[in-house]
Amino acid sequence: MAVFTPVRRWQPAFRPFRRLSAGGRMLAFTERVVKGPLFGCRMCGNCLLQETAFICHMECPKGIRNGPCGGVNDGYCYVDPTRSCVWHLIYERSRRMHREHRLLEVLPPVDWDRAGTETWGEVVRKVREVGLRNIIFPSKRKGKSAGAVLEEKVFRPLRQPGWWQGDSEYHPPAVTEPRSRLESEFRSGRFVITAEVQPPLSAATEKLEEKIRLVKPHVTAINFTDGSSAIPRMSSAACSAVASSLGAEPVMQISARDNNRNSLQSQAIGANALGVYNIVCLSGDSPRVGPTPRGNLNIIDIDSVQMLWILRRMRDEGIWLDGREIKNRPKLFLGAVASPFAQDPALQVIRDRKKINAGAQFLQTNLVFDPDSLDPWFERLDKEQLLEKVFILVGISPLRSMNLALYLHNNIPGVTIPDAIMKRLAGAGDKFAEESIAITVENIRRLKEKPGVSGVHIMPLGWEVAVSQIISQVL
Ligand code: SF4
Repeated sequence: MAVFTPVRRWQPAFRPFRRLSAGGRMLAFTERVVKGPLFGCRMCGNCLLQETAFICHMECPKGIRNGPCGGVNDGYCYVDPTRSCVWHLIYERSRRMHREHRLLEVLPPVDWDRAGTETWGEVVRKVREVGLRNIIFPSKRKGKSAGAVLEEKVFRPLRQPGWWQGDSEYHPPAVTEPRSRLESEFRSGRFVITAEVQPPLSAATEKLEEKIRLVKPHVTAINFTDGSSAIPRMSSAACSAVASSLGAEPVMQISARDNNRNSLQSQAIGANALGVYNIVCLSGDSPRVGPTPRGNLNIIDIDSVQMLWILRRMRDEGIWLDGREIKNRPKLFLGAVASPFAQDPALQVIRDRKKINAGAQFLQTNLVFDPDSLDPWFERLDKEQLLEKVFILVGISPLRSMNLALYLHNNIPGVTIPDAIMKRLAGAGDKFAEESIAITVENIRRLKEKPGVSGVHIMPLGWEVAVSQIISQVL
């Protein structure tokens, strides 16, 4: 064993495993100095610049490769409010360049073996493989341009490796029978009501069980968050298992923040063993909003669209991400979250369509306090024929205090509480709880009338006793 290792001790941890040729290193250096200043390139080695309107998306602190998260706030990133959301910039530029269609392709997670390496050499090698002649003089019979052949034979295979095969198409579930009670309820056409129960901050389950028992008789399913606000709590999987043991229908959340591609697949298989079939995939709040000391603020291994794509393929195609066959496929009813007000509905729906194409069968929106404000989003979804492909649960919350109302309104991106509601709450005095429940009931009634709304998802934010009061007034 070598004792004196003068170079290795300054190398990043992953470097010793890689042996790049001198030519490869030179090309990588050249690529870095050209693409860095021009496009903000971070040398992920899995270049997607053509799909992202020539803006490097790796600037996103969540490492999202498939569109903006729900935290984009007036075009700014909520993780670092001093800079623009890079995905907002990509969407805006794509619109100006009439390249919105390119934002729909489900793009793969980074192949970290290639991080820091050049991609130009890959393009040259692929062009050689296809043959320059076959690109410049494309078959007249097929009527394709050189650009189309280059895209189809060179760029697409490079960005969509065999283990991923992402596309821009809708993939309906392969099996038609419902995988869960929640899915059956949606399909029955009834107005579905689900509720959220906050996982406990301790190992004791008594309070959790109490809340589940309180809510269970009134709702179709109970959702358990996965470390919301980046605060560690009992895991969503454990809470879902407790709910399942009590005869409740759980909806388990998996956040990309706390998972990688391996743990996601393990969690999905394990969920079935616990009697959990409904899974909501989401990016998760940045550790920036959580407690200190913070972990890595920069990189997430997978994003929510990729999670949906991986889980849908496990269920419908019976394959793990690496292509191995799954003997007993998991039964999954897949959901995602939606932020109708994060940006212009025309752009927002691109992201929603991508989730639906990737595998989302239902969407849970963030909190809505003015049902009519959803109309432009629903009109857009309807225009793009997405409402027939997905069930939509609108997120609502009974507000327990004025402080909570102000906090949500002022601090949570995409959440707006109309002045009229603020005034009603502020003037309620001792009757604050009754007024808050009355407002929630009115909103649910208005949502019931709206085409496209499949149900509501009540987020009581610790006020679980309100759920039964609300539902008894709504029904
Ligand atoms: S974290 Fe969200 S808001 Fe910030 S750049 Fe990434 S997608 Fe945009």
